[in-house]
Amino acid sequence: MLDFVYEALPSRVVFGVGSLDTLADEVERLGNRALVLATPPQREQAEDVAARLGDRSAGVYDQAVMHVPIETAQAARDEAQIVGADCCVAVGGGSTIGLGKAIALEFGLPIVAVPTTYAGSEMTPIWDLTQDGVKRTGRDPKVLPKTVVYDPTLTLTLPPQISGPSGMNAIAHCVEALYSETANPIVSLMAEEGVRALGASLPDVVARPDDLDARSDALYGAWLSGAALGAVGMAIHHKLCHTLGGSFNLPHAEVHTVVIPHAAAYNSAAAPAAMARVARALGADDAPAALYDLAERIGAPLALKDIGMAEAELDRAAELATTNPYYNPRPIERDAVRALLDDAFHGRRPAA
Ligand code: NAD
Repeated sequence: MLDFVYEALPSRVVFGVGSLDTLADEVERLGNRALVLATPPQREQAEDVAARLGDRSAGVYDQAVMHVPIETAQAARDEAQIVGADCCVAVGGGSTIGLGKAIALEFGLPIVAVPTTYAGSEMTPIWDLTQDGVKRTGRDPKVLPKTVVYDPTLTLTLPPQISGPSGMNAIAHCVEALYSETANPIVSLMAEEGVRALGASLPDVVARPDDLDARSDALYGAWLSGAALGAVGMAIHHKLCHTLGGSFNLPHAEVHTVVIPHAAAYNSAAAPAAMARVARALGADDAPAALYDLAERIGAPLALKDIGMAEAELDRAAELATTNPYYNPRPIERDAVRALLDDAFHGRRPAA
């Protein structure tokens, strides 16, 4: 019997090839002068965006890095004040959008996000800040980007080795949304469709990075996955990835890619309806194995040992990921989580 709470998050989404042409108008709806944020490698893309804004650009700040170190956040906040920005345009992936959120958290500056990966941060009110090696996250409605401009053209330059794991990161949001404690019918529709769109498009994105149709389908899936991540609570998979990324400094999207088949296997018997939807979306019989096979097919990493994890750290990782209680469809059992990590470390295909 249905029993749920659904809360819509207010954001405006402009999607389509060429939608970047609307950026100046979108910024005008929110402010007068936008600070354009980027990572150092995306400086050129950010300068192109700033040029499109003309007088509405307050300049480019290109120091975004992963996990939003507090020092970077502070420097960006100072820059926003010095140049008199009253809004931000974040052009990039989760790192750049995270920097915009750090500014919004302090000063309330509205964000126009222009995502160029599939991570999904643009659709969530979740902020991250890292201080003294510890990553903190929180939810605050004022960091939710007011407008998101999804232009698949901007993702054409995302290399296959980043595109694949980034897409798997998005799929992981959808899988956990389907068995979330706060799952609801609308978000589950979006999550299943997100898995379908990404599962169908990622092999083409990786094989032909300049295939604009495949890029458009993948970005559509990423939008749905970000919306699912923002709307409902996550579970063991996100907890494990947060621990492995934060405490062992493993790369974000790659960790999600390696862990999601094993997190799904852990929850498989406790969340059969969610697993059936993931399997259906991937055109397969068994969700955990299908997630593993997709990662393999797109040439993404399959084992923690290949992305910087030391086997000697697995016990500590299991401790860290099981000490604080959190919701998961299957109870969190230390030994079973240790076994999950062992499977992920060696990159074993989950048994169907
Ligand atoms: P990222 O933003 O760090 O980008 C990865 C690399 O790809 C960077 O070097 C970037 O410059 C480059 N890049 C991005 N787009 C490109 C393009 N189109 N062409 C060429 N290069 C491009 O990686 P990410 O996976 O998008 O984000 C990861 C970060 O985001 C993590 O810190 C994670 O915790 C955070 N995140 C937060 C949320 C949230 O809701 N708060 C959601 C997802 C991820």
